[in-house]
Amino acid sequence: MTARTINGLAVSKRLRGDYALKIKELEKQWGKRPGLAVILVGDDAASAVYVRNKERACESVGINSFHHALPSSITNAELLGLIVELNANPDVHGILVQLPLPPQIDVRAVLATISAEKDVDGFHLYNVGGLITGSTVFSPCTPFGVMKLLESENISVEGQNVVVVGASNIVGKPMALMLMQQEATVAVCHARTRDLAQFTILADILIVAAGVPNLILPQMVKRGAVVIDVGINRLPDGRIVGDVDFTGVVEKASFITPVPGGVGPMTVTMLLHNTIQAFERAQTLRQAPLAFSAFTTQN
Ligand code: NAD
Repeated sequence: MTARTINGLAVSKRLRGDYALKIKELEKQWGKRPGLAVILVGDDAASAVYVRNKERACESVGINSFHHALPSSITNAELLGLIVELNANPDVHGILVQLPLPPQIDVRAVLATISAEKDVDGFHLYNVGGLITGSTVFSPCTPFGVMKLLESENISVEGQNVVVVGASNIVGKPMALMLMQQEATVAVCHARTRDLAQFTILADILIVAAGVPNLILPQMVKRGAVVIDVGINRLPDGRIVGDVDFTGVVEKASFITPVPGGVGPMTVTMLLHNTIQAFERAQTLRQAPLAFSAFTTQN
């Protein structure tokens, strides 16, 4: 068996085409476009690349992006002050603070200060809590992108054994909650899991987000499993690879995502999705504030 490769670039391109059309319609309806404020602190090269990609993606669909480059010496109070300003700016519908942040910055305070209504990354406690009850407004972009990729291949997770490798706050944990919401049976493994293979071999769907090249070898994968590789690792020779031994596992799985070109583009695409959603919510909220009385978190 050779797995079908799930093409995240193609799925992203299709979705972004739909979003561009939608934004044209929204502009006709409301006389304005969605806007995303992107805050980059310091001069980390990788963060600068991620931010540039996100801003280019915004441009490609017609979202206005507002770039805020801040020195790494910025104080906590200054950064929070900027976020408060952006919370009040009606042209800004989504706010993204690129992580990681310098050590003097209190990341939790930053994430909590972003208005839940503009939290397009889905990291505010309101949105994180909503993942438990299935009422989240903005799903975190990477796990959301994985769900969309599965959907694009008509792969239902309901009743499936899904193993998530990696338990971070931004990928593994929200991924597990989103899968449970769709009635998958979920096991979450992490660096302290004993004998990882005894879990992964049971997976109908295996989702890997550990940041360890070649963590998943063919003998750890059930024949016919769906394998989603979230990992992004740069090897000493400059190549970018995931966490899965693609060449080996492709012969055993039924579906597999490549790295690059799998989950990565979907993450940015879901950011666009969430920004459009934030814009639509903001316009509707202006017209019928009471309809949203259950969602009033303001900071
Ligand atoms: P993280 O370092 O915050 O968390 C890694 C998780 O993997 C932890 O729970 C850790 O316990 C677990 N882990 C580490 N080594 C392991 C091992 N040997 N066996 C089992 N579990 C192990 O990382 P993160 O932010 O969740 O990112 C994980 C990977 O996903 C990274 O490669 C990152 O670059 C990538 N990533 C990709 C995207 C994307 O858009 N495709 C987005 C976010 C992160």
